[in-house]
Amino acid sequence: MREGSLKLRPYLDEVGVMIGLEIHVQLNKLKTKIFCGCPLDYHDDEPNTHTCPVCLGLPGSLPVINRKSVEYSIKVGLALNCTIEEHTQFYRKNYYYPDLPKGFQITQYDYPIASNGYINIEGEDGEIRIRINRAHMEEDPGRLVHEGGSIERSKHTLIDYNRSGVALLEIVTEPDIRSPKEARRFLDKLRNILGYLDVVDTTLEGSMRVDANISLSGGSRSEVKNISSHKGAERALLFEIVRQKNLLRRGGKVVQETRHFDEARGVTVSLRTKEEAHDYRYFPEADLGPIKVADWAPGIKATLPELPDARREKLVSLYGITEDHAKSLTSEKQLADFYEEVVIKCSNYFKPDESIDYYIRDDIALLAAAWIVDVLKGELNYRNLGIEAFSVENMVQLLILIAEDKITDASGNECIRKLLDVGGTPEKIVEEEGLLKARGDIVTIAVEEVIAENPQAVEDYRSGKQEAVNFLMGQVMKKTRGRAGAKEVREMIIQRI
Ligand code: ADP
Ligand code: MG
Ligand code: ZN
Repeated sequence: MREGSLKLRPYLDEVGVMIGLEIHVQLNKLKTKIFCGCPLDYHDDEPNTHTCPVCLGLPGSLPVINRKSVEYSIKVGLALNCTIEEHTQFYRKNYYYPDLPKGFQITQYDYPIASNGYINIEGEDGEIRIRINRAHMEEDPGRLVHEGGSIERSKHTLIDYNRSGVALLEIVTEPDIRSPKEARRFLDKLRNILGYLDVVDTTLEGSMRVDANISLSGGSRSEVKNISSHKGAERALLFEIVRQKNLLRRGGKVVQETRHFDEARGVTVSLRTKEEAHDYRYFPEADLGPIKVADWAPGIKATLPELPDARREKLVSLYGITEDHAKSLTSEKQLADFYEEVVIKCSNYFKPDESIDYYIRDDIALLAAAWIVDVLKGELNYRNLGIEAFSVENMVQLLILIAEDKITDASGNECIRKLLDVGGTPEKIVEEEGLLKARGDIVTIAVEEVIAENPQAVEDYRSGKQEAVNFLMGQVMKKTRGRAGAKEVREMIIQRI
C-alpha cells in the first residue's frame, strides 16, 4: 500500500489503531560494556575480539555493574519525564538462544530504573502526549549473522559476541500511538532527545532497534520485532494495518504473535506465538544487589542540557525566527549550537558600540536561520554530511558578505557549494570567482544591451504584460552571471522601458 493512496486518518479511526513501541537503545557512548571491562569500540574490528569470560558467559564469571551505565539511564529517564526508582534491581530472564551464552539475559522486571514518563510529539492533529510506561536496563545479546542472508535459507549461522553485554536501555511506551506516521514521529523525537543527552551515537548500526506492537478495534496485537530504522517501523506498521484489517474482514482472528519485518520485501512474516512473562521464570539476579539510586537523580538532573522542546521555544522567542526554522535548527543539538554561535558572532561584527557586550541583531538572526536551514542544511544533506563539515567562521563571513549586500543570493549559494566541495573561505572564493556584486557600469551596460536585444519583450511589457520584465531580468542575470542585485535590476529596466 502506498502512503497517501487513501485518506489515512478517518480510515485509522475507523479501524481503531493502537500502537505501542519498545525501543532498545544502545548506550554506546559508554567506554565499556555493562557488566565487564570490554571496550565498545569494536565496530571496525574483527568479530569476537572484544570479549571476556563475563560477556561470553563462562562458568564462575561474575558481573560488575558499570556505574556510568546507571547514570546514563537515569539521564534518559529524567529527560523522558519519568520517575526514577529508589532502589533498582536486576533480574534473570531465562531462555536459550545461541546469541545468549549464559542461558539467561540480565535485565530488569520489577523496579525498573525509570517509569511513568511521557514525550510530546506532533500528532496527526496537533501536539499529543505519548506516555512512557518504563525504561529498563539490560544487556545486549551477541549478533547472529545468517550466511546467505535470511534465516530460512542459510546453511549456517555465525555469532559475534562483540555486541554481547553492551548496555541497553529498553524504552516501553503505552499504546498511545494512533498511526504509523505518529510512530515514526515518536521515534524521530526520541532520537532527537537522545542526541541532546550525548549517551548514544545513533549513527552506529543497531543503536536503536524497535519492536512495534499493533492492534485493531480492540483485538489481539501482533508484535513486529527488531526493526532497525524509523522508516522501516512506519512501513511495517502500515503493512500490519492492511494485513490485520483484511484478516478481520474475511472473518479471521488476529492471534497474538511475534512477527518479523522483511525490509527488502516490505512485508511482515510470522515467527512464533507470543511468549508470556511466566515463560521466562524471572527471578532477581543475586550476583547484583539492589542499587540505591534515589539520591543520584537530583545531581544528574542538574546536569541535563536544555532539551529540544525548550530549546525550540527559546530560539523562537529570543531570535524571533519562525517555528519551522526553530524546529529544523533544534533537530540536532550541534545544529542549534552552530546557529546561536553564528548569530552572536555575526551580530557582534555589526556592534554599534564597543561598550555593549551582548548584542543580537534581529535581521541577522532571521538571515542566519534562512541560510542555515533553507540552504546549508539542504546542501549538507545532499552530500550526506553533518553540520561539523561547515565552520562557524565561514558561515559568519558569508553572512556578513550577504548582509552588507556585497554578493547576491545566487553567489551565496555558489559559495556554500564551493566551500563544501573544495574548501577555502567565503572571502577567498568571492575574490577568486569574481562574485562581488557587479555594480554601476557593468549592470547598466547589461541592462541596456538586454533591452536592445529583446524588442519583443519590451513591446509586450509596454502593452501590459508584466511578466515580460521577469524575462528581461533573467537575461540581465545571465549576462552578469548572477552578480547583479535583483531589485536594482528590476528598477533599472522599468525606468528605461
Ligand atoms: P508484554 O508484557 O506482553 O510485553 P507489555 O504490557 O509490556 O506487554 O506491553 C508491551 C508493548 O505492547 C507496550 O509498548 C505496549 O504499549 C504495547 N501494547 C500493549 N497492549 C497493546 C494493544 N492492545 N495494542 C497495541 N499495543 C499494545
Ligand atoms: Mg514486554
Ligand atoms: Zn567482556
